Amino acid sequence: MAIILHLDFNSYFASVEQQANPFLRGLPIAVAGKGRHSIDVAMAHRGSQRIRIDQLSFQRSVVTTASREAKKRGVKTAMGTWQARKICPEMLVIPGDPKKYGEITSRFMAILRRYADSVQQFSTDEAFADITCASGGDYLGATILAQKIRADIKDECGEYCTVSIGIAANKFLAKLASESKKPNGLTCVPPHEAEDFVLTRPLADFCGIGRRIEKHLERLGATSVATLRRLPLSLLLSEFKSYGYFLFNSARGLGSDELEAIDDPKSIGNSYTFPHDLKTDHEIYQNLLALADRVAWRMRKQKFIATHVSGYVRYGDFGGYSFHRRCKDPLIDGLEIANTTWEVMKEKIDITQGVRLIGVSASGLLPIGGSDSLFDKERRKARVLQALDKVTDKYGSGAWQRASTMKTSFKERVSGWHYDHES
Ligand SMILES: [Mg+2]
Repeated sequence: MAIILHLDFNSYFASVEQQANPFLRGLPIAVAGKGRHSIDVAMAHRGSQRIRIDQLSFQRSVVTTASREAKKRGVKTAMGTWQARKICPEMLVIPGDPKKYGEITSRFMAILRRYADSVQQFSTDEAFADITCASGGDYLGATILAQKIRADIKDECGEYCTVSIGIAANKFLAKLASESKKPNGLTCVPPHEAEDFVLTRPLADFCGIGRRIEKHLERLGATSVATLRRLPLSLLLSEFKSYGYFLFNSARGLGSDELEAIDDPKSIGNSYTFPHDLKTDHEIYQNLLALADRVAWRMRKQKFIATHVSGYVRYGDFGGYSFHRRCKDPLIDGLEIANTTWEVMKEKIDITQGVRLIGVSASGLLPIGGSDSLFDKERRKARVLQALDKVTDKYGSGAWQRASTMKTSFKERVSGWHYDHES
């Protein structure tokens, strides 16, 4: 069964603004779309100080995001800024800056790709991540992984950019879970708790039940999850057509775990920092192969073959080097990726320095099964490997392993994570 994360930034645009400008922290602010503007005066409070702020006001604009301080005062998304100012006169209105938010969103997505088997961006500030294999297949692993992601977001996006996280077996439940605790929540709903968890949520919180559907359900007597469960599927189908399936399933905590990957990655890579320096070619090759297998598996999962590989090595003293190589034939298998990388690596490596970190990355990615007949051989190989991948998907990442990588140190779940970096 899949393990899906849903991550949702809290008061996204407002938090990014507060992160970017320390003066805005702790103040009620609203990010607004651009409207007609004029100079306006607002008073802000900081401790016992009153601070006069001259600022642009955005007439006839609406609140895109309110900071948590403004939300506490009753300011809501989609409210007119003039209306919000009536409730909260000292609220500052900040013009939206999509470039700034886009930058933080891409950092966020890069963090997710580092850890997850696959990622689906859902909106500017929301994403699903499939962590079935990355978590080791259980909810303890998933929770640890979620906390690691949260720590990286704090480091790389800033401490004001907090996320609420939901962990569950499908996208619908994961989103419902993340929504249930804000801000900065972490809600884990393992499969055996799913049916009961759904019962505790209002129908209006279901992603997919808007005002119109809610009213329609009300007319049928369904005002809660419990009452929705009493409606037979046949009635839901006659009232809502195929949408009835969604209503029937979601009331029972069921939903899809298929992620729709929208953006193609430019490269897929894994690296690992070893707890002790590696001193032999044999050890290095084994670990390289295990990393390459992980890269190849992620590549196939996203249906790519690679035409370039790169590798890097860092020594105990933090010196190191990296290299890049174009391949004669496209690569699909971890063994090929490892061997191609090793050919270059073994020439350059200075084993006496002790190797602290190695990384391997595939780039120049092409879709498997493109029309080019040159790749016929690869397509056949891809089918075999994808069959093995299905075994991994079903039974977890340790389901099969090359005999030669049995001793690789990062296969054990010791301190932290199997792989310390993915890109
Ligand atoms: Mg949000």
